[in-house]
This record gives sequence, C-alpha cells and structure tokens, in this order.
Amino acid sequence: MFKKILLLILCSGFFFTSCGIQKDQDKGEDSLEVGETFHGTDVPASAYYFDANIDFFKTTPQDEEKFEEAIKMIKRVVSSLEFKERVLNHTYNGVKTFVDNGGLSNAQIYKIILEGAETLNKIKNNTMDMEVELYYADTSTVGYTRSNSPRVWVNSKYFYTFSTSGVATNLMHEWLHKLGFRHGSFYTPSRDYSVPYAIGRIVGSLGRGL
Ligand SMILES: [Zn+2]
Repeated sequence: MFKKILLLILCSGFFFTSCGIQKDQDKGEDSLEVGETFHGTDVPASAYYFDANIDFFKTTPQDEEKFEEAIKMIKRVVSSLEFKERVLNHTYNGVKTFVDNGGLSNAQIYKIILEGAETLNKIKNNTMDMEVELYYADTSTVGYTRSNSPRVWVNSKYFYTFSTSGVATNLMHEWLHKLGFRHGSFYTPSRDYSVPYAIGRIVGSLGRGL
C-alpha cells in the first residue's frame, strides 16, 4: 500500500512527465545540476526524443555545418531538465506566464514545443520541421518567417557573425512562430517575455552552458 502511494506521488509531479524514462549518462550529467527547485522527477520521453528535420536553401556546405551545430544545440537543450524548468518557471511581472501566450499556461507551451506540430502540418511528430533559407539584406532584421510557409529566412549579415548559440536562438525563435506563437511587431520591454523571444533566449543561454 505504502509503495503504491509513493508511486502515485512520484508520478503525479507533472501530467506528462514520463515515469521510468532514464536519461543516458551524458545527458544526465549535463541536465541534473539545477533541478532542486522543480518538483517534476524527470523530463518527458518526448523531450528526450525531440528531433529536428531541416531542409536548407541557398546555403553552402559550410553554412549547413554551422546550422547543424546550432540544431544539435537546440536538441540538447530541449532534452534537458533545465529547459523544462526554465519554461515552466518563466515569469513576467512576478507571474508564471509568457507575454502573448495565446491563453496557454507555461506547461501547455512546453507540451506544444515537445509535440512539434507546426500550424501548417499539424502533425505531432516530436520534431522541429522547418525549411531554412539564407539571404542577405543590409537591415536590422536577423530573420523572419511567414505564417503561410514552412520556411524561415535567416539574414547572412548576422548569421556569419553569430556564435552557435546565436544561431540556435534565432532558429528556435523562428520555429516558435511556426508553432503559432507571436509577438508585437515593434519593440516594447514586454516583447522580450513573449514565447519566441523568451524561449529563443533560454535556448541560447542554456546552449552556451550545456
Ligand atoms: Zn519573431
């Protein structure tokens, strides 16, 4: 009886936490350091198996290598316990929420990221599906996308100066638009707390540390 209760307590930490999924040694060492503040026991299986399928356009093999490093970083970050904690515990004005969250809780946003169902294909395949095209423009736009296209456009003016974590931040930001998350067109301090900006930044900062 006691064991049964204990198991229930362990399993109820978070509704889509998968009990019994063990991380491999490498990932475990990376991601268990700052776990004290969160009550979940582990990352869900869908975080562990999160994947990416990216098609490149107007890129050289060297460009693709740099993008691939960034994509590897995104996968590493998304599978980590720190990422789960940072998304679930994200606050704006002292409240656990994101700006422009579409009425979704932090936990729902985390779940949507792991499901990977872009608004155009709606398939929950646990994968970041996207087309990436490199272009050059002497503007302040780092990248952009259109809601009717699976493609994101990355400005080479910034891509070539960015570190891997900078590219990862930008790709994650644009992909979050593909999941339907938005932000204001013009800068306001609160825009930094929108899903694309805040989670893009989380990916970049954790990516540098993992
Ligand atoms: Zn954006």
